[in-house]
Amino acid sequence: MGKYTIVIHGGAGDFPKDSPEELKQQYINSLTEALNIGKNILANGGTSIDAVEKVINYLENNILFNSGRGAVFTLEGKHELDASIMQGKDLSSGAVAGVTIIKNPISLARLVMEKTPHVLFAGKGADDLGIQLGVEIVPNSYFHDSTGYQKWLKSNIKQQGETVGCVALDQYGNITAGTSTGGRQNKMPGRVGDSPLINAGTYANNNTCGVSATGIGELFIRNTIAFNISALMEYKGYTLKQACDEMIYKRLPEGSGGV
Ligand code: ASP
Repeated sequence: MGKYTIVIHGGAGDFPKDSPEELKQQYINSLTEALNIGKNILANGGTSIDAVEKVINYLENNILFNSGRGAVFTLEGKHELDASIMQGKDLSSGAVAGVTIIKNPISLARLVMEKTPHVLFAGKGADDLGIQLGVEIVPNSYFHDSTGYQKWLKSNIKQQGETVGCVALDQYGNITAGTSTGGRQNKMPGRVGDSPLINAGTYANNNTCGVSATGIGELFIRNTIAFNISALMEYKGYTLKQACDEMIYKRLPEGSGGV
């Protein structure tokens, strides 16, 4: 009792070596701010679900990250966002895939968990659910950095990771994990990655661990990465590190991503 833990990530993409120092500092400052939001909630006796949602909301509202506001572009120059959240105390979970007008997909994922009997909503049905449940709606162009698409078309920059994720353990011993992303840049419209898939991109179980993944979603889906990390701990007695090393370094090709 009284102890809490929080871990965040801001994606597994390469940070180009020639990136300006100032930009690196902006990422570090944003991640620090996000961590502090979560720490304050947990230190004051808040729950892990609140900490994870608020940390991810902050990163979703920050254009530096490929989630919410800063979501990358599909092949058609639009944005389709994915998110999921899971509680380790009872395996309850919620997720949305391919939403186009939801400002904070992680918050809608939480509402899917809390207000519906389902786990995953996709596409128009998910957008409509958001309207029905009263979450903040924005035009798809909100996710569009006015110059970003043109810049990207010209430079064809390699997609950077920058998906965001958070795992928290609160003072009551409950783990929550959450992930939010714009997916892979240049993805085909309708493509869904691992981030909104419980067991692939997100998993939490109070008996083992919480996991939020980032990287090439297709590989994380095929290898059921998030669940397998927990399963190795539960069924084989692996430590968290052993389980992560097994899945990330032995089962996935080098450079696939991380957790
Ligand atoms: N895993 C995400 C996806 O495949 C992208 C990322 O983490 O960079 O949609």
